[in-house]
Amino acid sequence: MGTDKKRAPVIDEETAPVVRRIFELYASGMSPRGISEVLNLEGVPSPATYAYTQTGQKPKPNVMGLWTAVTIREMLNKIIYIGHMPQLRRTSLSYKNHKRFRRDESEWAVVYNTHEPIISQELWDRVQERRKSVAKGRKTKIGFTHPLSGFLICADCGNKMKLCTSVSRSTGKRFFHFDCGYHIRYGKAYCFSHYIAASIIEEIVLNDIREMAQRIVLDENAVREEFMQRNAELADNAVKSAKKELQAKRKRVEELSRLMQIAYEDRLKGKMPEDICLNFIQRYSDEQKRLETEITGLETKLAETTNTIQSADEFIRNIKKYFAAPELTREMCYELIDRIIVGRSSGLSGKEREIDIVYKVDIASVLRHKFKK
Ligand SMILES: [Zn+2]
Repeated sequence: MGTDKKRAPVIDEETAPVVRRIFELYASGMSPRGISEVLNLEGVPSPATYAYTQTGQKPKPNVMGLWTAVTIREMLNKIIYIGHMPQLRRTSLSYKNHKRFRRDESEWAVVYNTHEPIISQELWDRVQERRKSVAKGRKTKIGFTHPLSGFLICADCGNKMKLCTSVSRSTGKRFFHFDCGYHIRYGKAYCFSHYIAASIIEEIVLNDIREMAQRIVLDENAVREEFMQRNAELADNAVKSAKKELQAKRKRVEELSRLMQIAYEDRLKGKMPEDICLNFIQRYSDEQKRLETEITGLETKLAETTNTIQSADEFIRNIKKYFAAPELTREMCYELIDRIIVGRSSGLSGKEREIDIVYKVDIASVLRHKFKK
């Protein structure tokens, strides 16, 4: 972006398409590192190089004029691209002291819609949503976020599985495994070991994604149709049973009001001792409160069941990209997977180990989704 005479930013037609492309690539699941590699390979000038050709201002020696993941990450955060101006990012202490210091992000004032945006609000929102989700994966001490971090759940206690790392004494090689976080913290007394090598679970998940993608590519329409049909059935059943439950609960709430009234009247007529009456009323009103929360929960659930159809199309589009994915990436997991429930290792129970991959959209109920290892 450059500035016009009033110092308002104007769109630089040469660089705007690059900005848009960066946002698009990120929203579609590419990592900042991946994006920077693509741009460098294509010889797209980085902001530092571009500034140099425009103004003659030399880039800092450590910048080297190439795109980096850091440059990309910084760009993804700039509200200037959607037409707003951040103000007071730096401030002078007094007119005599021109030393500037950076203010907290919370103190920035934003002037909205000061200029024409380069990217749409919709694209911006998609990018920000993805940034938040990717940020949730915990980094290990060596600064590495495993693609599956935060997705694995212990089947026996329901807690998150933790990534652990160790270095082999004989080979000096570092390797990773996951285990139930509560087993790690509290030991066997709380939960069993659910040890699984990171490479194995990665392979299971990657194979499952590829297999689903391949089946979808083979007959996309049939899969979509079957999914819709099954989904309609499931939604129908869910709506029916939720409605029934709701009706029963509302009836009980009314009954409780009546019971409280009777207890109160009996007390007035002297038929019931005061402490017993209070006791009754307390119990009734507790139950009523509990039911009311449950009723609100059911009402929200009912509203949500109708919402899944567009997400199926999006999911199909996403998973098709990974038809021949060479490796599992965090972006992939984030796009497709809701959670993965990891059962106890087979050594203890003698049974086959169960690993349940729960996708964001339950398309797996049409395809096969249970893996035994
Ligand atoms: Zn556990």
